[in-house]
Amino acid sequence: LRLQPNGTAKSICGFCSTGCGLKLHLKDGIAINATPDPDYPVNLGTACPKGWEALTPLDAPDRATTPLFNGQPVDWPNAMQIFCKRMKAVMAQHGPESTAFISTGQIMCEEMAFLGSLAKFGMGMIHGDGNTRQCMATAVTAYKESFGFDAPPFTYADFEESDVLVFIGANPCIAHPIMWQRVLRNKRQPEIIVVDPRTTETAMAATQHYAIKPKSDLTLLYGIAHLLIRDGAVDTPFVTDHTTGFEEFAAFIQTYTPEHVAAETGLSMEQLQHFADTIRKGTPRVSFWWTMGVNQSHQATRAAQAIINLALMTGNIGKPGTGANSITGQCNAMGSRLFSNTTNLMGGHDFKNAEHRGKIAAAMGFPVETIPDQPSLAYDQILEGIESGKIKALWIIATNPSHSWINQNRFNALLGKLDFFVVQDMYATTETAQRAHLFLPAAAWGEKEGTFINSERRIGLSRQVRRAPGQALSDFRIFRLIAQTWGLGDMFAEWISPEAVFQVMKRCTQGQPCDITGIQDYTMLESRGGVQWPLKQQSDAGAHNPDTPPAFQTERRLFADGLFFTPDQRARFIFDPPETPAEPTDAEYPFVLLTGRGSSAQWHTESRTSKSKVLRILAPNELFIEMHPEDATSLQIRDNDFVIVTSRRASLKTRARLTPGVRRGQAFLPMHDARVNQLTHWAMDPHSRQPSYKHCAIRVTLA
Ligand code: SF4
Repeated sequence: LRLQPNGTAKSICGFCSTGCGLKLHLKDGIAINATPDPDYPVNLGTACPKGWEALTPLDAPDRATTPLFNGQPVDWPNAMQIFCKRMKAVMAQHGPESTAFISTGQIMCEEMAFLGSLAKFGMGMIHGDGNTRQCMATAVTAYKESFGFDAPPFTYADFEESDVLVFIGANPCIAHPIMWQRVLRNKRQPEIIVVDPRTTETAMAATQHYAIKPKSDLTLLYGIAHLLIRDGAVDTPFVTDHTTGFEEFAAFIQTYTPEHVAAETGLSMEQLQHFADTIRKGTPRVSFWWTMGVNQSHQATRAAQAIINLALMTGNIGKPGTGANSITGQCNAMGSRLFSNTTNLMGGHDFKNAEHRGKIAAAMGFPVETIPDQPSLAYDQILEGIESGKIKALWIIATNPSHSWINQNRFNALLGKLDFFVVQDMYATTETAQRAHLFLPAAAWGEKEGTFINSERRIGLSRQVRRAPGQALSDFRIFRLIAQTWGLGDMFAEWISPEAVFQVMKRCTQGQPCDITGIQDYTMLESRGGVQWPLKQQSDAGAHNPDTPPAFQTERRLFADGLFFTPDQRARFIFDPPETPAEPTDAEYPFVLLTGRGSSAQWHTESRTSKSKVLRILAPNELFIEMHPEDATSLQIRDNDFVIVTSRRASLKTRARLTPGVRRGQAFLPMHDARVNQLTHWAMDPHSRQPSYKHCAIRVTLA
């Protein structure tokens, strides 16, 4: 009876980008349990194990409860003085470009907006990026170049309304399990195509699996486009009316013959033809979906655009069950894309555009001179700036790159060059937080309020249902304290609550493709089960009607009118020749290392999910490397033997798991173990600057 709930609240899960609705069961206003929200249009009464366990990480015994300076507790006034004095001293001595922040896709939109505005418009920083660089930068760049705006066009109903679903470098069975439930609800008996070097859980459920050689995806996609053109299977009216650059693209892919593509990808010509025939013109509805297998690559942006090209040339965009659809990673990566104020100016604007700077200054009530006229360096460039001694102070918020960044040893070594290093997080025990000079204890999801934007552009409200432990404060409150201590209290006087900042954010989107001026307030968000952007103030007035049928909540996609966000309203065909991976295999390092998600029960660096006994049982804390039995036999390795995995950067010891699901010459490590990124190679996609986690050279020997 002591734990009998006597109330409920609705919220949005704070792990992945699916954005499931949760029902939180309250005892005297405090959440004691979480279950899926049966009424939320995203998850329809289901949740993955992480959602069911959402409250558990809040109760972990190692929650940070006080600020720490050089490992010793300090109070908030002291912590704020240290923060402001040290940051100002670095800026005074080395200039504003000598400081930077690294943010996250895990905090609320309002917190991102506050951080980005405080750091850049208030404190005068130029450089700041987010851990979304590790997951979504490619999709952002690809969409901006191809569609004129970072605009994932789909709605989750498309999973249920496709006749053919093509998953490229995506394993939604475990990475986005609730989205996969939507696929399982598809009553159209869809063809499911999976392109992935491994026989993943999703590949096992597919009707067609194309196990290509690692990073031959771009060649494959060009080869399929070649066949569609050769076979007269292009939707010519759509291409003529709504796109630009098709003729150049068609000329470019003439050399991607089935013979050439088969040799490059390891597929047969019959497989290529079957793939092309399955998605050709005349197939009613084809949707294309991609995630990290595409995004985390040395040629990621062009691969994403090759997917977009296929959707355009078959006319599969803007209609139910179609689209070139990037599935985002983190719960608020999509919010970061619009409101983090890092690469883009607030609301999807451009730092370099004077008109945009004036518009945002007016929307925020700040002098236009406070807005920098250059975007930030990208994450890897900030790190190289630290390495070269140009950047002297770094502030990391709610992310754990000492575990997750590529080539981990190089990352951790460069942190040692900083004059001042601040980490703000809910645990002081993460690999990154332990290296900080100043640590600021943050409230977690559930202990604060604000909005997230999910993969289908749905803005949802996450509620406060717990008190943060000890002296921990919400990131929002920490930013307010910094503003006041820095001397910016007047500048941010309007920024008193997340909902007040939501109104500022709305103003910043006015007239943009992501215009959300039609969302009145948090109450509207909650009563609607979230709202997909855009929702303009006047033209979508019908959407405000409480009698609007449920279809409104699940069926809002972009480009239904065939008009894109480019100046001529036409989508672009963009292409480049494939490049060799940055670290090919050789005699010394003969295996390609693939990394990826290992389980639906763990999240990224496991900072939170490792606190749950339930999740730990579902995904035991044991690293293993998957390799093909014939490769293992040739190395005298048996199943479960200990092996040494070595790259040019590091070695680790683990057990071998033998499976034909990994092809010969390849090996797979789940990404959650802290040692895996000691092996990976520091290489970036040149357009998006997203790290290439999916390909480096290793050798494996018996321990
Ligand atoms: Fe849904 Fe993702 Fe949360 Fe799982 S982690 S409940 S799929 S939002």
